[in-house]
Amino acid sequence: MRQGVLTGPGSFDVVDVATPVPGRGEVLVEVSACGVCASELEAWTGRSEPTYPLRLGHEVSGTVVEVGPGVESPAVGEPVGVWVASDGYADFVVARAEHCFAAQGAPLDTVLAEPLACAVNAVELADVRLGDDVVLVGAGFMGHLVHQLVALRGARQVIVADTRVDALERAVALGATATVHAGDRDLAAAVAELTDGVLADVSFECTGSQAALESMGRVTRMSGKLVLVGFHQGPPRSVPLGWWNWMAYDVRNAHFREMSTILRGMDVGMRLLRAGLLDLAPHVTHRFPLADIGDAFDAAVTKPDGFVKAVVTMAGTS
Ligand SMILES: [Zn+2]
Repeated sequence: MRQGVLTGPGSFDVVDVATPVPGRGEVLVEVSACGVCASELEAWTGRSEPTYPLRLGHEVSGTVVEVGPGVESPAVGEPVGVWVASDGYADFVVARAEHCFAAQGAPLDTVLAEPLACAVNAVELADVRLGDDVVLVGAGFMGHLVHQLVALRGARQVIVADTRVDALERAVALGATATVHAGDRDLAAAVAELTDGVLADVSFECTGSQAALESMGRVTRMSGKLVLVGFHQGPPRSVPLGWWNWMAYDVRNAHFREMSTILRGMDVGMRLLRAGLLDLAPHVTHRFPLADIGDAFDAAVTKPDGFVKAVVTMAGTS
């Protein structure tokens, strides 16, 4: 089978490797698509200086084609969204049976179970309440997922800020009650006006940028919740902690490393997806065959107009 291997910054090789064999409790999944994750871009650009080669890919969807001993479900032929730690940019990947979630009803190249789990867990952690006023900074893929989940929780207002006009248009399509172009208008003033001076009950930072992080402390009410969804690797960030301290902010880091939490979020997200209460399909905007995996990573870095999310698709799968 083929596998995309990152051999150094900006350089993927598609190599031939043996198709893995599922062991006890494992299944073999024929990969339909694997999403390119923001957390992989540091290795692609070389900023994080990891040890190459790297076998990336953890946002996998596909079809079960073989089951190992002791596996009762999923069954051969079942479409699934999958948790794997790596090796997803390949024709096949082995996964634990309990790390596969049924994906009937959704286009398989849009079933990105891992980011879905992150978004579910972020909104659960934020504990958005009925009638809350919510500010979302960053209308990219994660921002859109969080947006849909916040709406399910019954927020009164969902105010979305971004620096890209096309991103704000998509937020409107998702039902944003107001959008703010962060380059054109002062976000804090806009939120104050929309909330009669009270400011947001909950703010989500979904970009991973210093500027967005800082803005949270200007749009959130006293004792409100600041939720960090963005990926803040790279240079240290700074925040006006004196102000955050005084404002009694409840700062919540929406990153999860515990397997049981990730799997629970994935299960919940996939239930919502199967029920049609969530739709990832409009947000998967760019598809690249495995042979062009480098172009997929380039697109995730440069974000051409209309870009939300890139997936690498494996030819020959459905
Ligand atoms: Zn990811």
